[in-house]
Amino acid sequence: MKISRKKFLALAGLAGSSIIFPGNALLNYGKENKGKDNNSKASITYKKIKLNLGHTWTISRGSTDFKEDVFVYYTNEGITGIGEASHMTGTGQNADRTIEELKKIIPLYLNADPFKFYELTDEVNKEIKDISPAKAALDIALFDWLGKRLNIPVHRFFGLDPDKYVDTSFSIGYDKPEILKQKVKEADPYKILKVKLTSINDEEIIDTIRQVTDKPIRVDINEGWKNKEEAIRKIEWLSGQGVELVEQPMPVDMIEETRWLKERSPVPIIADEAVNTSKDIVPIAEAYDGINIKLMKSGGIMEAFRMAVVAGTLNLDIMIGCMIASSVAISAAVQLQPLARWLDLDGSLLISNDPFTGARFCDGHWIMPDEPGIGVKENRVQSNK
Ligand code: MG
Repeated sequence: MKISRKKFLALAGLAGSSIIFPGNALLNYGKENKGKDNNSKASITYKKIKLNLGHTWTISRGSTDFKEDVFVYYTNEGITGIGEASHMTGTGQNADRTIEELKKIIPLYLNADPFKFYELTDEVNKEIKDISPAKAALDIALFDWLGKRLNIPVHRFFGLDPDKYVDTSFSIGYDKPEILKQKVKEADPYKILKVKLTSINDEEIIDTIRQVTDKPIRVDINEGWKNKEEAIRKIEWLSGQGVELVEQPMPVDMIEETRWLKERSPVPIIADEAVNTSKDIVPIAEAYDGINIKLMKSGGIMEAFRMAVVAGTLNLDIMIGCMIASSVAISAAVQLQPLARWLDLDGSLLISNDPFTGARFCDGHWIMPDEPGIGVKENRVQSNK
């Protein structure tokens, strides 16, 4: 089936912005993609890789020493796009479950015209309704492929300014005071710290960190506070300690209590567990000042962009965050960094055996890759032990 240049631009939401697309690539597309015969040449493979953590990672839901991620390779017309599924600690997500979910949606990708990615996202969401890193892995691989196919970086699909950035925070997991101090010292290259609190010893943790640094701190409670009066007391104390925002202070279903908190809080309250996709935003919009968009929650780049659009209409600020992941998932998220007021992309900086090279971290922030696609390369030698 042929697709006109005008129709493609409309699908990409970029009608009238043809200057960003290499004309030859689009002309070639019209000649070469004649329908299912051509699309049937697509192939998809995947593999598990174990990512080792520099430190044991502890948050309110649990602890882990390593992550096992699933990497997806979408090949069509001799071009391969790479995607990654990374999993949220303590939620039941894991590599084997992701592979089972991949098997359900890979046929949709094999049979699809890859340029109809907007419709493909909707088809995938019908097949798997819940949050699924498998959806993200395939979506990232497809966008990487599209960028390589058109010879442009992914951020150009969305008309984003590659020079626009904010410093990223670096996460400090919950730990004993002496180890916390060591972690803060090791975080020297990072300008902002994100500290996981669990409701136990919150003041002691911040006091300990303040003994060794005066950097801005962001705190993530991961739903750990259950009482709004206690929560506001802690937030007022934290704001006096240089804490500049509080992420997911209370359980997701305590929307009214969180709205009460937001009205009184001297610092922004950000939703994380409370929002996965664009459909989740309207019901919680009055309870938060901003939302944390993550590719592994949204199901990929396309839905993450939709979330940013919806948040903008509701005057919610945007944080872009991540799971612990390799340079594949992080470089994909960096493609959207110009949309963010706050950035929390440290996943690949927390692992010691990144199998990929991608977006470069420099002076507290990410440099937007200018290579086609998401801008990653697989390292030649890999450790899977
Ligand atoms: Mg969080």
